[in-house]
Amino acid sequence: MPHLLILALPVPPPALATLGKLLEERVIETPYGPVGPWARRACTACDAELWILPYFGAPTRTDPRATLWAAKDLGVQRILAVEGMVGLDHLLTRGDMVLPIDYIDWTKHQPTTFFEKTGAGYISQKPPFCPDISAAIRDHLPQARPAIYLGDEGPRHETAAEARMFQQWGAHVRGLNLVPETYLAKELELCFAAVGIITAHGADRERARGQGEVRQATRQVLEAIPRILASLPDPPTCGCNHLQDSARQRGVLSPNWKEWS
Ligand SMILES: [Zn+2]
Repeated sequence: MPHLLILALPVPPPALATLGKLLEERVIETPYGPVGPWARRACTACDAELWILPYFGAPTRTDPRATLWAAKDLGVQRILAVEGMVGLDHLLTRGDMVLPIDYIDWTKHQPTTFFEKTGAGYISQKPPFCPDISAAIRDHLPQARPAIYLGDEGPRHETAAEARMFQQWGAHVRGLNLVPETYLAKELELCFAAVGIITAHGADRERARGQGEVRQATRQVLEAIPRILASLPDPPTCGCNHLQDSARQRGVLSPNWKEWS
């Protein structure tokens, strides 16, 4: 089955060569608008084909539902996002890696469900991210610290007062691209997990000065991705692909996911 890699931080195109030979690029039409270009790579080290989608935050980004609908349409089951994040926790600095294990949704103007009419979006957020992909990230990037992610929509940065408030809520990092994507992915029974690379400090701290740490961490993540994807259990053991079984059995959703709304 093909995988999807969402790159929510700048990556120089030559660095993507480690993910396999480029086969094609295309834009996918969806009921929520066009999304892309998507790049398909023959990732032999991943033991699967890999779609790659550059992905940057609001306000110009595509409707997140379009991204997930297109992924499902392409036959993708597993989505791994790599995002540049703000380190709210004072122990985090530029170039550190994190593994989001839970989230707080602080978005205000994003779609919250595919199912505004059917009520099929009552889906447990335990666990918030796919256990299979998260376990593989832990195995191959053990330096990625477990972190609680605060999903914001920007584009402005947080204020110092907000940074302190988010810390009191228990958030370690802030970002723009995992929420609502992670819970919309669940609605389509897709696996979704992420690796974060700290690119900046929260507004209550001194600005972080860069000396190539982010570039180095990005390279380490890209090198680990084929091993992460190749080590995923087949078939999946996480249960993400059965999250709508109950809705299907009750007749709320049809067997054809393209009829879901
Ligand atoms: Zn999963």
